[in-house]
Amino acid sequence: MVEAGGAEWVHIDVMDGHFVPNLTVGPLIVEAIRPITKLVLDVHLMIEDPDAYIPQFVNAGADLITVHLEACRHLNRTVGHIKSLGVKAGVAVNPATPIGLLEEILPDLDLVLLMSVNPGFGGQSFLPSLYRRARTLRGWIEREALDCTIEADGGIKLDNIAQVYRAGVDVIVSGSGVFETSDPGETLREMQRACDRALGVEV
Ligand code: ZN
Repeated sequence: MVEAGGAEWVHIDVMDGHFVPNLTVGPLIVEAIRPITKLVLDVHLMIEDPDAYIPQFVNAGADLITVHLEACRHLNRTVGHIKSLGVKAGVAVNPATPIGLLEEILPDLDLVLLMSVNPGFGGQSFLPSLYRRARTLRGWIEREALDCTIEADGGIKLDNIAQVYRAGVDVIVSGSGVFETSDPGETLREMQRACDRALGVEV
């Protein structure tokens, strides 16, 4: 359904009941999804001390693994570990974490995931500080000519997706904004059109 709607990635939220107050899926679910789609499997680890679990998610078929800056004591080592296993590495930051903390690690990252809610639950309201954070980060990436994707996650729906896109976000995650609509495939197509219009493309 999401492939038909034009989604390019499948984002999988992994929660451990420690880093975030909720439990969700583990590597078995990633392994179950892998054979049924060729889309990028984008695994977002909202877990403490992710290092021990990273190989399991790589073996399960993840294409990209994102860890939280707040959950990693030795972030540089963790990012290197992810890359050494042959997948792309991302770092996520919670809404209250200054993005300046990414300064030293940014050249090593394939992706920065800006949280636009406090992670832990689906269906939360979007925090508009995302716009400023995304524009600032986009400025740094362009100034340094880095090859780093900006992703945003949390509370993004059809009514705010164009604004998020215009703030410089490359990859937009939407859970309830897609799956809690009556026709998720059509919602994805409408989201794509809204982003195209934001760029001034005739649709
Ligand atoms: Zn996520």
